[in-house]
Amino acid sequence: MTGFVLKQGALYAEDIPLADVAARFGTPCYVYSLKLLREAFAAYRDALAGRDALVCYAVKANSNLAILNVFARMGAGLDIVSGGELARVMAAGGDAGKVVFSGVGKSRDEMRAALEAGIYCFNVESAAELERLNEVAGGVGKRAPIAFRVNPNVDPKTHPYISTGLKSSKFGVPYDQALALYRRARSLPHLEIHGIDCHIGSQLLDPAPAAEAAEKLLALVDALAAEGIVLQHIDIGGGKGITYRDEQAPDAADYLAPTLEVLAGRKEKLLLEPGRSLVGNAGLLLTRVEFLKHGEEKNFAVVDAAMNDLARPALYDAWHEIQPVVPRNLEPETYDIVGPVCESGDFLGHGRRLDLQEGDLLAVMSAGAYGMAMSSNYNTRPRAAEVIVDGTQAHLVRRRETVPELFGLETPLP
Ligand SMILES: *Cc1c(COP(=O)(O)O)cnc(C)c1O
Repeated sequence: MTGFVLKQGALYAEDIPLADVAARFGTPCYVYSLKLLREAFAAYRDALAGRDALVCYAVKANSNLAILNVFARMGAGLDIVSGGELARVMAAGGDAGKVVFSGVGKSRDEMRAALEAGIYCFNVESAAELERLNEVAGGVGKRAPIAFRVNPNVDPKTHPYISTGLKSSKFGVPYDQALALYRRARSLPHLEIHGIDCHIGSQLLDPAPAAEAAEKLLALVDALAAEGIVLQHIDIGGGKGITYRDEQAPDAADYLAPTLEVLAGRKEKLLLEPGRSLVGNAGLLLTRVEFLKHGEEKNFAVVDAAMNDLARPALYDAWHEIQPVVPRNLEPETYDIVGPVCESGDFLGHGRRLDLQEGDLLAVMSAGAYGMAMSSNYNTRPRAAEVIVDGTQAHLVRRRETVPELFGLETPLP
């Protein structure tokens, strides 16, 4: 049985009816398929077979400890962007020696924690960060392994909010300053030059920009080698897209093929930082219809999940397929699927043809990436439970928050 499928007129997660998951754990609830998580990682592993490579899962896409643990056990490295994510990785049984640390604003404390843990590499994103890292490493008597995140200035042809490799981006260092920065790094005593990195954007459907970026990195690698600066790894970042609706998303092998061709015969270790493509299609958000509202111009299905649970529609106008858990399909009507939050932007889907009744369950598909991870407590809404289904077993991997927990850290004035 694969992932999320209709069986005998009902939607299942692996071998469990989603209606049973809702009855047991309540809604809203994120549901992940262990099989789909493992298959997504295996696709990368197989595509890279025979090559010295490390797939570093981008923790920010979904940082639940159980999911980190699933990938870590399969041999994954992890790409972190904060000290908090480092702590999660350690708590999940991840190997610090396989961690790369990205992000434009690493604090001294975060640098120290990562040095103490013994991470594999810092992806340095500015000249100022380089100086700070050298100073912090000196302070703790260590040498910090570094790569520069270089901005290869290729157009990934994706949404401007998730395009990160252009000159105008806040991320990375400019391509034409990279050589000078590596020379500077070589002159600093508490740094060890290890590799080069880029990450050009997210939800990329065309494999060409990644290969183009790899080509540009190689030109730098060779220019550095001519100066005696020898790099051990090339990190081409993450960004592979997935199918939300009708996008033709390449599988890992097809996505990587042009890049691997560019890198053929190279001795450097290859690193990748996929996030969305490892978890996106492996999760859904299970929600229940609270009310149907038939207006003069529009019909609304008000559900118990909202923009605080899944921000992508409100934030990026992202489209998620919305499936009935027990489809009726006799008299479909057109609904906007909206949540209870007091914002007009609070929607999960617009104009969906569904045959609904109050109390029905809906599955918002492809919600495994940047779903729970971007959720909030806006409107004092407890965050959803998270469940991983493994065959006939359902494991609660994060219990639903309680309302008192949401204000437990707050204190009225005396
Ligand atoms: C977000 C991010 C990723 C993962 O991107 P996906 O599009 O989810 O694959 C990888 N590397 C860095 C530096 C990132 O910021």
